[in-house]
Amino acid sequence: MDSIIEITNNRDSDEFGISIVATIAELIPSCSVCLFQYNEFPFASYKSIVTLSVKKDDEGIKQFQWNIDVPQDTHEYLDKNIDHLLKLTVYQSSQGVHHVFIPILIEGKIEYAIDISSEERFSNKLDSILAITKVCENFYAILAHSEKDSLTGLFNRRTYDLKLNQLIKKQYYNKKYGESVENEKREKGKAGATWLAVIDIDLFKQVNDKFGHIYGDEVLLTLSQLMNHSFRQNDLLFRFGGEEFVIILEPISDNDVVKLLESFRAKVSQHKFPMVGKITVSIGFAKVADSVHPKSIFDNADKALYYAKEAGRNKVCNYEQLVASGDIFEHEEEGDIELF
Ligand code: GH3
Ligand code: MG
Ligand code: MG
Repeated sequence: MDSIIEITNNRDSDEFGISIVATIAELIPSCSVCLFQYNEFPFASYKSIVTLSVKKDDEGIKQFQWNIDVPQDTHEYLDKNIDHLLKLTVYQSSQGVHHVFIPILIEGKIEYAIDISSEERFSNKLDSILAITKVCENFYAILAHSEKDSLTGLFNRRTYDLKLNQLIKKQYYNKKYGESVENEKREKGKAGATWLAVIDIDLFKQVNDKFGHIYGDEVLLTLSQLMNHSFRQNDLLFRFGGEEFVIILEPISDNDVVKLLESFRAKVSQHKFPMVGKITVSIGFAKVADSVHPKSIFDNADKALYYAKEAGRNKVCNYEQLVASGDIFEHEEEGDIELF
């Protein structure tokens, strides 16, 4: 009961996931627990969110290790069965390891999944595990409701503050105390900065005036789908305000971020929206550096967006480049930054 109270105290899906994994790992003497997020785009896949292994040491004391690699047999099982993993499944790997796979459904759709594996049988714990995952399902549904925008299903404005602060905090601590195992893995072959892009629909007021709000909303929905198709699994997509969107882009090089955003801009300009026809977007983007206050990062990207609008719209502009070329003036920091 205590652990249920503890896990439902979380107000953020990432923290909640950590609590769930820890609670399950407490139940079984020796096991690995992996929590996955299911993604449909660009193809069906399970992305590992958090992993934990628990083993008893020589004195019988449980040792916990976070961020372990997802066991190879879990990978193999998920890959092989990706299209029909809608039910709790008990399976045994070729090495004889016992697994339980539990999908977590929100409104009938698979959104998360947990895979638990152990060298020893743990079928006597299945009822408790199921009770925990039921709580998990209910709580994820509530969180999804409060984290997502109801029209587009993207993260909402409230979640933006939370996610950006988390990311900056993580970058700050990684820099101060060294990269975590997970980050080392992620950074390999993925050198580059994290970026924040602001996307604003061009002359959207005219769309509403000409076709009505309903068709305006349809454009917002279609645009969010184009975003889901165009950006990578780990990029965070937000509907920031009415017709304004924000993307936090996972580490990517200066050249590649321009390519990615340019290709999205072009894709939108070529898309035929129902009834409305063609629309365009303007994009401003800036670097997420831990020396810059979260609010200033948004302001920087917004300045670049403003520049793109002034320069004729349907353009992608980078804040740092505009500062370097003297086209806009650098944001003055106001006093010391007290982040945490
Ligand atoms: P600009 O290129 O300078 O961005 O021009 P704009 O017309 O897009 O800019 P402005 O900020 O003046 O207008 C934004 C409009 O977006 C105002 C409002 O009609 C529309 N809008 C905001 N939120 C929503 C929404 O949720 N649904 C619909 N249909 N329209 C919205
Ligand atoms: Mg606007
Ligand atoms: Mg606009």
